[in-house]
Amino acid sequence: FNELDQAEKHVGGDWEAVRGLLGGKGTNLAEMARIGVPVPPGFTVTTEACNAYLASGGSFPEGMWEQEKEALTAIQAETGKTFGNRENPLLVSCRSGAKFSMPGMMDTVLNIGLNDETVKGMIELTGDERFVYDAYRRLVQMFGNVVMGVPDEAFEEILTEVRKKQGVRTDTELTADAWKSVTEKFKEIFKRRTKLDFPDDPYVQLKLATEAVFKSWNGKRAVDYRNAAGISHDLGTAVSIVTMVFGNMGEDSATGVAMTRNGSTGENQIEGDYLTNAQGEDVVAGIRLTKDLTQMKTELPKAYAEFEQIARRLEKHYHEMQDVEFTIEKGKLWMLQTRDGKRTAQAAVRIAADMVEEGLITREEAVLRVTPEQVDFFLHPQFDPEAAKMARTGGNMLAEGLNVSPGAAVGMVVFEADLAEEWAKEGKQVIMVRPETKPDDVHGMLAARGILTSRGGRTSHAALVARQFGKPAVVGVSSLEIDMGRRQMAVKDKIIKEGDWISIDGTVGEVYAGKLATMIPDIKDPWLRKLLSWADEFRTLGVWTNADYPHDARRALEYGAEGIGLCRTEHMFFQSDRLPHVQKMIMADLPIERSEALKALLPFQREDFAGLFQVMNGLTVIIRLIDPPLHEFLPSQVDLLRDLADLKIRLQHAGKLKKIDELLGKVRNKERILKRVESLHEANPMLGLRGVRLGILIPELTIMQVRAIFEAACMVSKEGVDVRPEIMIPLTTHVNELKKQREVLEAEAMIVMEERGVEINYKFGTMIELPRAALTTDQIAEYASFISFGTNDLTQTTFGISRDDAEAGFLIEYMENGILPDNPFDTIDRDGVGELMKIAVEKGRAVRPGLECGICGEHGGDPQSIALCHELGLNYVSCSPFRVPIARLAAAHAAL
Ligand code: PEP
Ligand code: MG
Repeated sequence: FNELDQAEKHVGGDWEAVRGLLGGKGTNLAEMARIGVPVPPGFTVTTEACNAYLASGGSFPEGMWEQEKEALTAIQAETGKTFGNRENPLLVSCRSGAKFSMPGMMDTVLNIGLNDETVKGMIELTGDERFVYDAYRRLVQMFGNVVMGVPDEAFEEILTEVRKKQGVRTDTELTADAWKSVTEKFKEIFKRRTKLDFPDDPYVQLKLATEAVFKSWNGKRAVDYRNAAGISHDLGTAVSIVTMVFGNMGEDSATGVAMTRNGSTGENQIEGDYLTNAQGEDVVAGIRLTKDLTQMKTELPKAYAEFEQIARRLEKHYHEMQDVEFTIEKGKLWMLQTRDGKRTAQAAVRIAADMVEEGLITREEAVLRVTPEQVDFFLHPQFDPEAAKMARTGGNMLAEGLNVSPGAAVGMVVFEADLAEEWAKEGKQVIMVRPETKPDDVHGMLAARGILTSRGGRTSHAALVARQFGKPAVVGVSSLEIDMGRRQMAVKDKIIKEGDWISIDGTVGEVYAGKLATMIPDIKDPWLRKLLSWADEFRTLGVWTNADYPHDARRALEYGAEGIGLCRTEHMFFQSDRLPHVQKMIMADLPIERSEALKALLPFQREDFAGLFQVMNGLTVIIRLIDPPLHEFLPSQVDLLRDLADLKIRLQHAGKLKKIDELLGKVRNKERILKRVESLHEANPMLGLRGVRLGILIPELTIMQVRAIFEAACMVSKEGVDVRPEIMIPLTTHVNELKKQREVLEAEAMIVMEERGVEINYKFGTMIELPRAALTTDQIAEYASFISFGTNDLTQTTFGISRDDAEAGFLIEYMENGILPDNPFDTIDRDGVGELMKIAVEKGRAVRPGLECGICGEHGGDPQSIALCHELGLNYVSCSPFRVPIARLAAAHAAL
């Protein structure tokens, strides 16, 4: 395996190209040989040769076979063994190996070089007839199957027959004689099926095996795999010819597999399994009970010491944790394979951080090695993978939906918010299940472990709230039929009643019946903390959070947030102690009624803001003024009509005058509300009276909010808190809206500061969430000291696709058909929405240099979108608290 220099020269020193030429396995074998790790002598036939062979329709390129024979001669010199020689026969394997690992997809032939003559020599050498005939029959079998296309069943049938005849259950119990007769029978099959004798000539064996491996590149399995894995079909496979070494040559021989570090925890300790007097397959196939590698320390101390040293050397060379295969033949250690080891998220983080401390990799490399998904793993409980697998295979997976808020949750099904709260108070674990959620379900959602809905999309109410609070959620599970009347839900014929246990996986969007075991990783993991602190050194984007309540803000701070980019004030209105005042305000007929209701709301809002300011001492808090249409705060038309019908029936049957009076009062009240609801009804409320339009129509409402903000700011500022409020006006589409609102709001701010005798450092700004606003950000920037992209609405309005309905309908179809590459509500659409953002940033900063630009739509927590925000030069991304650590890493990736 000394072809590395030559290969490098051939491709001009490009390392990727070397891997392309020699394949992953061949390159690693050659690299190990180069750094002095003992690998069995061998050589690699390149992918170029394979491609030439396939292109010519099946002939070796000129000179290739001569080179192969020459290389074999060199191996003979190195090993002192000779191909086809009875005294000291050389046996080789012929292994496939493409640039990218395609496990088990292509072919391999072992024990090439055995024939009736060399078998005798091998028996003399090893003194183990049983082992040698087993090896021989393997060659006939593999050669027959892989090279000549004899179906494996033909060979397996014989094996079964012989086992039966000998009265044994497993192959390991078969005697030497049995293997000898199996070999003979295999040869007969070979002849019958191929009309040829099994080739005695080792060179013929090698030649045909090389061809077979070449051809296996275009085998059905391999083609299917490449299609699925997105690997190009023109790469070809290399063929490595490797001297056979045997781990089954007595008690001083062994074979095993190992990882240079613990693949589950990342601990810097070699772990693995081995077997003495066994072949590689025995370890992998699990036929025999393997031993823990630590036992090798005492059983084969010399070989172990060498192995340990090699493991370290490989890590040093690859700067990565390695997954290796080795064989010890009569006390001599051989490394057969090395590759980067698979690991859990936890292990990935720890290994990356440890390797920096050990001087193996740089901080940049460590940060780049960990993926945002791996960080996400630390933030939510997960299902034990084994439990999930068992549930899946056991038929307990009920349905799939949108994975809108990650993590695993287990609980009893509850269909109503009040009951969810009640049960949770009793200490029960509940999962709140609804067709969809509404703001007045929030208390139930908070009490629940997880949320499941049959309708709604990625920015549905359920999804937003769930992400905000880090509650696992699966929404839009269309196969779920919820029968609120019967208090049960069904998937096909499987019925789940209220109180039954279910498990939901918000990470992948799966719903299971029953309780699945969970495990909880943790953000306090010291390695994760270290890694994220390095990420912070590299990123230039700020990472802020969307938080409405002090406890969310506190959590976000703990996760590393540097400001609040969005506080949705209307969420405060929905709390049960404020909702009646909000409703009164909406129902008010007279200005005096309205102002009374607003006056009652003011102290609540002031308290809310004060709480946020206190937590965010010294950091910016962007407070967005009320956004949703007013009817959202009132009962639905359907509910009102039902209640009215109910009341009227009761009225007909009411006997006592007092009762009639009371019911009449109720009817009138409901009718009044219904009238107001009808007057507020809009066919398309998302495009209706919401956002800044509310503030323009009912200025008292937003003035009250600004008063509350400034009163709170003055109050906590006097306590010594460093307050930095920024007031954000939503849904601006024309500069005049902003101009008009800002005038009245800023005037109120001045009044409050004057009253309180406190100067507050504040800003007024707006959301850019409508295309027109993005296209006119130069005009808008005259009146906005900052802008924040509301990419939820900007996506909705740019595409003309409803953010609430689309994912339950055609959008999923669009993605499946490749009409859209990604869900635009998940990942910012670069060409459309991204372009609008670019225009807005450029135009805005042209008028107001250094204009603070951020994003507070859900995309602020999506790594691909974060990369775009970095490119556009935004100041920060703002995302839900549970996305903050992911955003820190993704922002560093974008910068590196
Ligand atoms: C947005 O539209 O992106 C946004 C942040 O506002 P909301 O989701 O509250 O409409
Ligand atoms: Mg919006």
